[in-house]
Amino acid sequence: MLVKNLPLKAFLFGIAAITFSACSTSKYAATNKVYKEKVKTFATDMRTMPPANQRIDSLSEAQQSFIGTVNFGIRKPNYVIIHHTAQNSLDQTIKTFTLTRTQVSSHYVVSRDGRVVQMLNDYLRANHAGIGRWGNDTDLNSSSIGIELDNNGNEPFSDAQINSLCALLGTLKKRHNIPTPNFIGHADIAPTRKPDPNNFPWKVLAKKGYGLWYDDVLMMPPVDFNAEVALRIIGYDIRNLGAAITAFKRHFVQTDITPKLTPADKLILYNLYFKYL
Ligand SMILES: [Zn+2]
Repeated sequence: MLVKNLPLKAFLFGIAAITFSACSTSKYAATNKVYKEKVKTFATDMRTMPPANQRIDSLSEAQQSFIGTVNFGIRKPNYVIIHHTAQNSLDQTIKTFTLTRTQVSSHYVVSRDGRVVQMLNDYLRANHAGIGRWGNDTDLNSSSIGIELDNNGNEPFSDAQINSLCALLGTLKKRHNIPTPNFIGHADIAPTRKPDPNNFPWKVLAKKGYGLWYDDVLMMPPVDFNAEVALRIIGYDIRNLGAAITAFKRHFVQTDITPKLTPADKLILYNLYFKYL
């Protein structure tokens, strides 16, 4: 028998591992069932012909019909939005995202030790962005993948966590053909509401092709340089200009996030403005 030839220690370890994996699976069996049921509902909606609730309001039945095309695919995400959880452990975050009453979720959670937990199919919409705006996109939940980094907001991000994040970003960039500038933070799209991810190594990510960064050598902007327009072109919602400046500085300056552009900040902004044009 195979077991007879196994050293006792390895055998016991095997039993422990099987027990552990059974436990961790059953722990989420109920919420996984809810996930499956929800997906089933969406699949049923997709199969319905003509699609339910997609009638043109102001036209009569005689004026509209449905004939299915044979050429189509599934919509893909075009942005990645990075968050910090502001929580203390991976388990705590998973718990938050498996409780109906919280109404929040993300596609992926990356733990401090580099483990990645996927919580939603890339093609489905997570509730991670909330009210926000980037350029003229006002429904970032529909157009993005949400990634939560397990971090309380006041601690450095570990190398293991950043390494796993980069592995994930590389896969997503390739899988969905996500443009380099479209790797952004929650604070970028919701400047009046959100500070995350805080003190984040955006430059490290940009060097690997996830997000943009400014050049080492910077040129003086002309006297008529319009900082407000530059922020807007990059994507910031400038309806609250102070908040937009703070969000920009949280991402690209970091040493100071006061809602005022210093001459040094303007050099950075002027350089980035051309990259986003
Ligand atoms: Zn967030």
